[in-house]
This record gives sequence, structure tokens and C-alpha cells, in this order.
Amino acid sequence: MAEILIVEDEISINELIRRNLNLTGHHCTQAFDGLSAIDFLENGKFDLLVLDIMLPGMDGYQVFERALGTPTIFLTAKSELTDKLKGLAMGADDYLTKPFQMLELAARVEAVLRRTKKVETKFTLGDMQCDFDGHQIFLKGTEIECTPKEYELLEVLIRNRNIALSREKLLDMVWGYDFEGGTRTVDVHIQRLRHKLHLENYIKTVYKLGYRLEV
Ligand code: CA
Repeated sequence: MAEILIVEDEISINELIRRNLNLTGHHCTQAFDGLSAIDFLENGKFDLLVLDIMLPGMDGYQVFERALGTPTIFLTAKSELTDKLKGLAMGADDYLTKPFQMLELAARVEAVLRRTKKVETKFTLGDMQCDFDGHQIFLKGTEIECTPKEYELLEVLIRNRNIALSREKLLDMVWGYDFEGGTRTVDVHIQRLRHKLHLENYIKTVYKLGYRLEV
């Protein structure tokens, strides 16, 4: 779990980001203008800043200068190259142009946190161990061969553990929106993971919805 400060003046976008990052297990603080963002930064410790550039009063660049090395992902409505270059030249870790997909933001957040070593790199459950850096799965210390989709599905379940995920959401997160197969694909992969990794007692079926990894 990481402590994330969201600085975005559009309340609906700020709220949407908070909800999504909460779902992936992070704790979020919300600021709606630059001055209150600086106040939070001076009085708290954050692992990551999700920072809009166009803010009332003080812009995102000015907030960033006061963020004292907190890893930062800039958000902006502009797609102009100059903004991107300015943000990155100032030392931002990543950059997203609005509108963006929440899954895209979540992926960037995990990537930045992983680079800055704020996320777990290994996860153990029963006889199974998952190594996120190596994309490897071990059972009692022996590496188990898994397809890329099996691995991705397991990682999504682990990162969202104890949360019920619908088949449709799993399909979107692992196979992507343009995948043409049905949700039966998810069921087949879940069965394989349960069997291969001895997770029968951990991957629970959620009636009429989907699955939950119970830890
Ligand atoms: Ca804005």
C-alpha cells in the first residue's frame, strides 16, 4: 500500500482517481488546488503525487517544485509536446494526457511505485510464491510454467486481493477491451490457476459475479 496525494481541481476526476487507486489497495489524500497540495506535502509523507498541471491559483509545476523529490505523475488536459517535455525535464516520473483510462493510470502508478520500490516485489500464499519482477511463479520453490495470461491474471488477483472482481473486469484488465472471446476464458484460466498452484482454497467463486483471492 502506498500513500498517494491526488491534486486535481475537477472534483469528479479527483474522485474517480481516488476510487480507482483505493481499489488497487492504496490510500489517497485529495487536494483540489495548489496551495492545499503544498500544505499536505509539508505536513505528511507521500510515496507518490498524481498532479494536474492546470490548477487554480498555483499551477502543477509550482507544486512540483515544492514536492521535494516525491515521485510524480503529471496529468494535463493539454497534449502539447512542450508540456510533456517541461514536466519530464523538471524530473517528473511519468506523464498522462487527459482523457485517460483509469487502468492506464493504475498501470503507470504501479510502474512508478515499483521503480521507486514502494510496492511489494514478492507475494507468498500457501505453497505458492509469485515474483513480480521476474514474472515467475514458484510452488514449493520449484518454478511453474505459466502462460503470460495465466501470470497476468494471477498478478491482478493478488494486487486486488480480498476484493470481488467481476468476470468482465478481469477480462478487461488481463485481455483488454478489444478481446473478442467471452468471459468463459476467465473461468478456464481460473480453473488452471487453482489446479496448478494449489489455490483451490484461496481463489473463491463469487456467486453470479466472478472471483476473489481470499487471503
Ligand atoms: Ca485542472
